[in-house]
Amino acid sequence: MIPTLAEIFEEFNDLDAEDQSLFLLELGDDLDEFPDSARTDENLVHGCQSQVWLTACISGSGPDSRMQLVADSDSAIVRGLIVILQAAYSGLTAREIRDFDIQSVFRALNLQQHISPQRRNGLRGMVERINSIAAAQVASCSSSVDSGPNVAERSRTSVAVTLPVSAAFDVAHIRGQFPVLNRPLAGGIAPVYLDSGASAQKPQAVIEKQREVEEQYFANAHRGTYQLGVRIDEELEGARSRIASFIDADSPDRIIFTPGTTAGLNYIATGWGRRHVGPGDRILTTIAEHHANFVPWQQLARERQAQLQLIPLTDDGRIDLAALDELLSAPVRLIAVSGMSNMLGTINPIAEIAQRARAAGACVVIDGAQSVPHLPVSVQQDDVDFLVFSGHKLYGPTGVGVLYGKAERLDEMDPIFFGGHMIDRVGVSDSTWAKAPAKFEAGTAPIVQAIGLGEAVRWTEEVGLAAIHAHEQSLVRQVFEGLQQIAGLKIFGPGPEHRGGIVSFCIDGIHPEDLAALLDERGVFTRHGHHCTMPLHAALQVTGTTRVSFAAYNTSTDVEQFLAALQRAVSILRR
Ligand code: PLP
Repeated sequence: MIPTLAEIFEEFNDLDAEDQSLFLLELGDDLDEFPDSARTDENLVHGCQSQVWLTACISGSGPDSRMQLVADSDSAIVRGLIVILQAAYSGLTAREIRDFDIQSVFRALNLQQHISPQRRNGLRGMVERINSIAAAQVASCSSSVDSGPNVAERSRTSVAVTLPVSAAFDVAHIRGQFPVLNRPLAGGIAPVYLDSGASAQKPQAVIEKQREVEEQYFANAHRGTYQLGVRIDEELEGARSRIASFIDADSPDRIIFTPGTTAGLNYIATGWGRRHVGPGDRILTTIAEHHANFVPWQQLARERQAQLQLIPLTDDGRIDLAALDELLSAPVRLIAVSGMSNMLGTINPIAEIAQRARAAGACVVIDGAQSVPHLPVSVQQDDVDFLVFSGHKLYGPTGVGVLYGKAERLDEMDPIFFGGHMIDRVGVSDSTWAKAPAKFEAGTAPIVQAIGLGEAVRWTEEVGLAAIHAHEQSLVRQVFEGLQQIAGLKIFGPGPEHRGGIVSFCIDGIHPEDLAALLDERGVFTRHGHHCTMPLHAALQVTGTTRVSFAAYNTSTDVEQFLAALQRAVSILRR
């Protein structure tokens, strides 16, 4: 007999962390027998480390049909997770399941603490499977597209009954914290900001934190032992520690503050690449990379007479792992790929790529500019050598970013900037270097911005990256549904299940710049052009595309307004 969600919460709340893990294991014992005939390839859920079969018994048809989940796994913990899913969705209709904010259940149970990142991927796979069964049911009987209640309403109606409200993903509450989004434009309309892939807006907490530093205790860092100096060091190093734990680095010493992703990648190409890449060596990357993760390797290869090779992509813009294996059958010095493409939106399977690359002896560099702000990341689980990202895409300030490196990689990387703070001893004819991170932080750090980034990370952790990702994916599905109604429109990249909150498209006979101008008239802010991916655009045989990109604060109303403005623009431009 499956317990109710309320019973699960009650039990969980009474237990300490260790007993909660045990309880999760025991929950699996309640699972009903799974028929052998349903253990088919079709019912296998992808993305799980263990074997998981999942399907549903459906009574009735259309959005109001009832769905009863039936699932099983060879892992005891996953069986426990299945019971939680069954309890959460129990008695709901297909429409209610589709609109249910399951992430808030996971947050309330603090599942992050109890399951590994791989298991989280598996759990995400199960939820996606359930959502797609529910969405198919909803679509089966509704002739018009059912956009459902907006996400804010969903969080309140379907989750608040079972959870403390604070645990729900309340997008209205989140949006309310972003001053730029709450300032009407000329004409009184609210901005529909769909360009977070370029830069995210900042919550009040980040703005206030920077103001606090400037007004209350600003001083240079790592210099003075007076009161302000001590405070600023505490704040800066506190931010470093928080960022280290955010990406699951084994020590704050692996976190180097840089001006941003571009600077971090150039640092690796120069500081590590010049020393370790030589004539004939092979460097792998993809054609889908941002110029920041392409040109530095291209130039390094030219300078060192190395070979830059492209890992083929599948037709829908994902890394072709079989082709990668072939490329890795001979030695490779370095592989550089993004965690998430800034044009196609594709989420790359970093752990899998890194595992394969490691076996070939390659150094793994991840451009996390788009993935770190939108997906949970663990550099240790993924086993990557370097990871870089920018503050301004992560609800933080411009002018600051992070370069993470494994201890041994940082040891074998040369500094490229020389001066104060990065030295151990300076003599007239030679000098020695401090240990990382100081070795790579010559001069005065972007102190205020780095502390602001620490606050942005705190804010993001509080909202929860898994919840942000799930929310963005629901917006992506809504955009897909709307865009598919427009004749002559082509979306680039994979289906919603393989992407984050980015969708790029082009429309026959319509120039992206014209489109952007007409969208702007309606207060809808998108990006157009080549998005710093010229080789990719050339391969796709387009000169430019229109891109919408989401963040935690976007709502389904934003998507509706974007789609309405798009319809209007298309009919004007096709008149
Ligand atoms: N890599 C990717 C995937 C990006 O999307 C971007 C910026 O859009 C960058 C690198 C460059 O980031 P920054 O301009 O902050 O250095």
